[in-house]
Amino acid sequence: EDDAAGGKANSTFELGLPNAIKGHVVTRLPPEPSGYLHIGHAKAAVLNQYFARMYDGKFLVRFDDTNPSKEKAEFEQSIIEDLALLGIKADATSYTSDYFDQLQQYCVEMIKRGKAYADDTEQETMRAQRMDGIASARRDLSADESLARFAEMATASPEGKRWCIRARMSVDDPNKALRDPVIYRVNDLPHHRTGSKWKMYPTYDFACPVVDSLEGVTHALRTNEYRDRNPQYQWMLDALGLRKVDVWDFGRLAFVYTLLSKRKLKWFVEQGHVSGWDDPRFPTVRGIRRRGMTVEAITQFMLQQGPSQAFLNLEWDSIWNTNKRVIDPVAPRHVALATEGLVPVTVLGGEGKPAPGQVELKDVPRHKKNPDVGTKKTCYADKVFVEQADAATFAQDEEVTLMDWGNAIVRTIERDPASGLVTALGVDLNLSGDFKKTKKKVTWLAGPKAPSDARDLVKCTLLDYDYLITKKKLEEDDSVEALLTPQTEFRTSAVADHNVASLAKGSIIQFERKGFYIVDRAFDSSKPDEAVELILIPDGKASSI
Ligand code: ATP
Ligand code: MG
Ligand code: MG
Repeated sequence: EDDAAGGKANSTFELGLPNAIKGHVVTRLPPEPSGYLHIGHAKAAVLNQYFARMYDGKFLVRFDDTNPSKEKAEFEQSIIEDLALLGIKADATSYTSDYFDQLQQYCVEMIKRGKAYADDTEQETMRAQRMDGIASARRDLSADESLARFAEMATASPEGKRWCIRARMSVDDPNKALRDPVIYRVNDLPHHRTGSKWKMYPTYDFACPVVDSLEGVTHALRTNEYRDRNPQYQWMLDALGLRKVDVWDFGRLAFVYTLLSKRKLKWFVEQGHVSGWDDPRFPTVRGIRRRGMTVEAITQFMLQQGPSQAFLNLEWDSIWNTNKRVIDPVAPRHVALATEGLVPVTVLGGEGKPAPGQVELKDVPRHKKNPDVGTKKTCYADKVFVEQADAATFAQDEEVTLMDWGNAIVRTIERDPASGLVTALGVDLNLSGDFKKTKKKVTWLAGPKAPSDARDLVKCTLLDYDYLITKKKLEEDDSVEALLTPQTEFRTSAVADHNVASLAKGSIIQFERKGFYIVDRAFDSSKPDEAVELILIPDGKASSI
């Protein structure tokens, strides 16, 4: 789609706000406490905080709690946690509900100024009239009569429930967002903060500009699907003589094969298609962080996206690739081998052959190019293991490189006659051999205590995931149920070097030749038989995600 910002969606674009004065900028994020934050919200959060810092201003988080049918206190807590997971911290936190008294007063003021009226037109009819540019039968209701209806609405009596308050903006403006939008409606469900004090609530269209202005917000950032409503936002402030606010809008974020709607995500949780809101397959902040997405990558990516006006349906590859560039220089390297078909290797001879049955521990850099990452202890022994997938390719007398050790020449290959699988190898070390001349650099492991026993290595489960849905871009009337990917979780048993037992949950590492992983369940010495669980972090190259 067209980029209205003129293709400036790149890092060379100087991000900035119009009319911004250093020290005076106030931005805000207005999340509705109706679910967990997702990667789309992350864009809004990152941009708001970025501009506040850039201009030495203030960044506010305001819970937009004007609809008791959808909102819960638990979501306020989870949103604060989600923001922390994004490295985002508000300078102050508030609630639209803090302003219910003032908002009611402002609504009264609107009615008195002839800028709003009470209406009891049925919802369907109201929608049709708005489409066709027809005035409501109540449009000329007097201020006094409207105020009486507004008072009735406050009680949520059967009569009050029939009414709402509408701004007297326009009947037939070409911009339908200006056709007398509703500014107050009745809802008699208890509110999680104000209890049963209120039985009517301001709409977002009314509350947002008013509270932005009251809280000193100078720049209101919002997604550009609200652009039609920008004149409406300014109209409310004009009607009430309130301080003006600059609206700065940006393109809504979307990703292929991904649902970004709290309502639809909730369905996945409730149906048990995912393990929870923090499922690694989920585009929630918790989900992507759990899968190994870093705060640095999210921030970099969102700032690159910053000024783009395009409604972007992005590939996940681009953000995972940004992430890979963040983690690659610092992720410690370890070794894991698939358990299935694991092949024991005996060092038969050669210079440097470890003494039989002995384990030698040597310090090896955890990262070949970054000494700051430190060292790890690698076990050397005359009995080691390699993966079946590697062993199956070895030829008699082939010289291969055992990574972090040296070259070895394959002398004996035993195979299971039925399956053809390699069951054992014998090699001679050739440590002075040139590793640049070998075609195969393979990973290998020895156990720290009993090198010939694979149980002496750290038991792991490697997890990988696929998209939850099979369709790249979901249409509004698509049935999610019919588009579910049949299998989305893939588990592989593996053994890893003993250093992996000391990695904490959340550690990001690279298993050599396998990819980047994040520890999802750390080793627990009280349950030594439980596998350490590690999730593959997409690196933006693989075909899946
Ligand atoms: P959802 O539809 O998932 O419930 P929402 O838009 O109702 O999302 P809010 O809590 O009202 O969620 O949004 C808080 C902020 O996040 C708003 O400024 C909104 O514009 C922004 N936002 C929400 N979704 C996206 C998205 N996909 N891309 C960019 N910004 C978004
Ligand atoms: Mg919303
Ligand atoms: Mg929404």
